Formats: sequence, structure tokens, C-alpha cells
Amino acid sequence: ASDFGIYDALKVLGIKEINEGSSTGTNNFSSGETIASFSPVDGSLIAKVKTTTKEDYEQVMGTATAAFKEWRTKPAPQRGEIVRQFGDKLRELKEPLGKLVSYEMGKSYQEGLGEVQEMIDICDFAVGLSRQLHGLTMHSERPGHRMYEQYHPLGVVGIISAFNFPVAVWAWNTALAWICGDVCIWKPSEKTPLCGIACQHIAATVFKENNLPEGISCLINGDYNVGELMTGDARIPLVSATGSIRMGKIVAQAVAARLGKSLLELGGNNAIIVTPDADIKMTVIGAVFGAVGTAGQRCTSTRRLIIHESMYDKVKNAIVAAYNQLRIGNPLDENNHVGPLIDTDAVLQYNKALQQVVNEGGNLIVEGGVLEGQGYESGCYVRPAIAEAENHFKIVQHETFAPVLYLIKYSGDVENAIAIQNGVVQGLSSAIMTNNLREAEQFLSAWGSDCGIANVNIGTSGAEIGGAFGGEKETGGGRESGSDAWKVYMRRQTNTINYTTELPLAQGIKFDL
Ligand code: NAD
Repeated sequence: ASDFGIYDALKVLGIKEINEGSSTGTNNFSSGETIASFSPVDGSLIAKVKTTTKEDYEQVMGTATAAFKEWRTKPAPQRGEIVRQFGDKLRELKEPLGKLVSYEMGKSYQEGLGEVQEMIDICDFAVGLSRQLHGLTMHSERPGHRMYEQYHPLGVVGIISAFNFPVAVWAWNTALAWICGDVCIWKPSEKTPLCGIACQHIAATVFKENNLPEGISCLINGDYNVGELMTGDARIPLVSATGSIRMGKIVAQAVAARLGKSLLELGGNNAIIVTPDADIKMTVIGAVFGAVGTAGQRCTSTRRLIIHESMYDKVKNAIVAAYNQLRIGNPLDENNHVGPLIDTDAVLQYNKALQQVVNEGGNLIVEGGVLEGQGYESGCYVRPAIAEAENHFKIVQHETFAPVLYLIKYSGDVENAIAIQNGVVQGLSSAIMTNNLREAEQFLSAWGSDCGIANVNIGTSGAEIGGAFGGEKETGGGRESGSDAWKVYMRRQTNTINYTTELPLAQGIKFDL
């Protein structure tokens, strides 16, 4: 592991006690059991982290609540200035943080750097936004009255994140929440705890340099038990949770039971429609990157290719040929296209999916399999697989978080393809490959794709921070990042001011005393 300079990176990021039982961040009161973080790259133990107990959590909540009282009084543009400094720190630490993301999570180094770049981008976006938290001014129906709305900070925002974007998802939430005047408590995935600690250190440095309380950013460590401390806590008005649909259903119910708000970013089952007018070269690049990038572990990964029968063999052959070129191995080596899955449990799920698609009548045309031998000691490396399948298969309806691509044939009009694309419970990302304007516009119309993201001549994978990100149906309905996603982090208030000496009532009601 030292070949990648990972231990130097950890040192720069403030994670000092390697393999010694505790590696906690500042403002991290954790004193519970330790969890170990193993790298899927080579199976090495990177460090251990203490989990947060119920008592520790109370202490964290105390710090967060106290920090909120101070932070909410700061003008939003000044809060933006702090986020600007945080973005600058990320620029300085982009390489070590990108390396840690890559080593702890298993995505390529380029993608690790890309994730940190997304954090920087959302900071820049948030800085501008800190001068634009606009409310409307409305005309009152009563004479001598002024009516307007304003947005106020919400309070303590809880963030629960998934392993596959171990740093960017936190930043999407936290950069906006901070400029909105909120403070955040973050529970990163128990599979990537060191990324959480590294980010907490970076934020803490910025707050310290500005004489601000570190409680503006808090970290708690552990699995779902620690997450549940937040979902059931009425002191947290908003819980933003990213992860599986299974998790989202439990979190949504817990938060709704206390009438709190939740922002849910859950699983996808994303498809690319390939019509007779598609550009084959673009289709192959979009589909292959979408299906095997991050080893199929993106919420926006391409899971289904819905191909017109007239193009089917051509597209199939081109994609199979591209799969034969894929190099699988250490993600820190830039020559490799595909890195490992997060852990051996994910490998199990991958194997099960391949078995199930065959059991349901599918046809494996690129067989896949687990890699063994030198360089694959972690047991987490698998070959991307392709199966010809039908949309109604149970396994096709399910999001398998691994590089398994299903090919589905359609005939007739694009409406038939759209029906297949929409015929799943998830609704995150979707795409159409076509040079036919009518098909493209139908796909984007009210009777087109039912997903939160719909692209033309771009794959399903990835998104820019400027747009609101999220999906419909069982993907959870939440939106974060760009556009007006900031509004969920604030409470809205309508204000009416009477500057006359009369008190006229609304709707012309008379109430004479
Ligand atoms: P996961 O659901 O296993 O875990 C996600 C997080 O939720 C973890 O921090 C976990 O500890 C926590 N958690 C689990 N149960 C909980 C509970 N009952 N109460 C509180 N917290 C709980 O997901 P994962 O395996 O880490 O990530 C993969 C999943 O995340 C995929 O389904 C993927 O599509 C989804 N995802 C979605 C988006 C999106 O923006 N839509 C982004 C990234 C990942």
C-alpha cells in the first residue's frame, strides 16, 4: 500500500494512528467499539475508528446546538466566505483526499480526484448562493400592507451517506446547509469512516482559523444503530439520507413518525434507450462507462440497455468487443478501467445476480466471474458481465450494486422503449441515444421518462452540480446540489406588515367592536 503514498496522504489529512485502535477526528467524542477500515484495493487494514455511543451522541448534539445559536446570527454572505475558505482548503488537499477516497472506497484515482472536484464545485456554487437566498415580495390585497417571504436557517441537519460517494455527498449537503445557516451532524458509511474523519479535520481547521465553533460540523461514526440516533431525534428537523431503498424506507418512516423532514437519495435502475437513429460510437462509450465505471457502484450506473431490434446485434457486438478490452485491477493504476467492489459481501451479491438472471431465463453473453491471484488478493475484483434479459425479471427490477448490464430488446415506436424504461420502481437517471428530434422530445415530454434525470445523447452516469440532483418513485423524491435545492435546508416564513392605523381583515371580513 505504501507504493501509492497512501500513508503520507493519511498523515497530511490528520489521520495519524494507523492500525492502533483509534483514529478519531477532532470534535469527535466517539468512545464506543472500534470498526476497522479495510481497503478493497489490496485488503489491507488502513486504520480503526471508534464508534459513537448514545452518550457521545448527546455530547455531539450539545456542541451542534450551541454552535447553531452563533452560526445563524452570521449574515449569509459571511457564511459564504467560510465556505469559500473551505473550498480553498479542498483545492490544497485535493490529491491526498482523492487518494484516500480511491484507496478506502476502491474507485479509480481519477474518480477520487473527481469527487473532490465536485466538493470544490459545490463550495463555489454555495458561495454565490449565499448572496441569493431570495424570497418573493407579494402584493397585499389590503391597503397599507406589505407582504413578503423570507428563508431562515432550519437548525441541526443530519446527514447519512453511502459508501460509494464517501466525501462528495456530504459536501453537496453541507456546503448548502452551512450557507443557509444550519449546522450539520454527519454519519458517513461505516465502510468508509476514514473519509469522514479526513473531511471533519479539514472543516475543523477552517472553523478554528476563523474563531468559529467546530460544532458547525460534527461527525458521528458507526452503522445503522448510530444513524437511528438521528432519525428518531426531534432536535434534527431535516435528515438527508443517501443509500439503498431498503434504508430509505426505514429512515423515512422514523423521521415521518415525528413529523420531521427527510431528503432521500436512494437507489436507481438506470437505462439507456438506443433507437434506430442512435450514434453507435457515442452509445458504446456512454453505455460501457456507465455500466463499468466505479465497478457499477454509482447510483446512476447504467443497469439496462433498451435497444431497438433493428440495431440490437450491432450494438451488442460493439459492446461485447469493448468489454473484451477492459483492464481490471488496482484503481490507483491509471491504466486500469475497473477497480474492486467495496467488499466481499458485494461480490456475493454480484454472484447471486448472475445466477438469478440465468435461473429466470436470461442469457449471459459476457460471463463475468471473480478474479483471483496476484493483485486480486482482497477478493473484491470481478469481471463486468452482460446478460440478455427481460425487463420483468425480478433480478432486472432490482438494483444490483455491481457491474452487471442487462440488454433488453424493443420493437416498434420509442413509446414502447419508454414504457420499458419506466417499468421499474426506481426513478433516478435515464438516457436516450438518438438523432431523431421527435424521439428525443417524446422522451423528455410529460409522457416520457419518469426519472429525476433524463439525458439526450449522454449516458445515465454522473451529473453536474449546477442541476438539482435526485430521483422519483422509490429513489425517494429528494433533490440536492444545484438549482433551488437549497430551499429544503431552510424554513420559509411569510411576513405581512401593516403600516396604517387601521386593521382591515383579509377576505373583506368585518369584525366591528
Ligand atoms: P446503505 O443503505 O447500506 O447505507 C447507506 C447509509 O445508511 C450508511 O451510512 C448506513 O449506515 C446508513 N443506514 C442504514 N440503515 C439505516 C437505518 N435504519 N437508519 C439510519 N441509517 C441507516 O447503502 P450503501 O450500500 O452504503 O450505498 C449504496 C446505495 O446507495 C445504492 O442503493 C445506491 O444507489 C445508493 N445511492 C444513492 C445515491 C443518490 O443520490 N440517489 C447516491 C449514492 C448512493
